Amino acid sequence: MIIKQSDLDCLLELTRQAHPEECCGLIVGDGETVERLMPSANITTGDKTRSFELDPKVRFELIRESGERALMGFYHSHPNGSPFPSETDKSMVYEPELLWVITTLDKIKAFRFCEVNQDFEEIPIQVKL
Ligand SMILES: [Zn+2]
Repeated sequence: MIIKQSDLDCLLELTRQAHPEECCGLIVGDGETVERLMPSANITTGDKTRSFELDPKVRFELIRESGERALMGFYHSHPNGSPFPSETDKSMVYEPELLWVITTLDKIKAFRFCEVNQDFEEIPIQVKL
């Protein structure tokens, strides 16, 4: 995944702003390079400090603006946790081709779900200058 430094900074800022709750949103791009982030409200009816749910309106907006293929993945934060997918995250993989970006207050990691191993695999983040 290739991403601009300004988008990485933005992800950490969104994580801080939402703290202690989880933030979430869409990652828009061509499959490898991130073009932009689309923040979503966390609409989970559960505990927002431990879970998240994307607002489907944001996805409809993306489809209208850029088409479904521009959806590269999702991001969400683990405000007090580690930047690795939780068991809950694993149970929420419905679209294995999409990237999962997980942030903490000071770390960002990206993952892709491997269907063979039924587990997430970390993928490198390359900063675009
Ligand atoms: Zn999570």
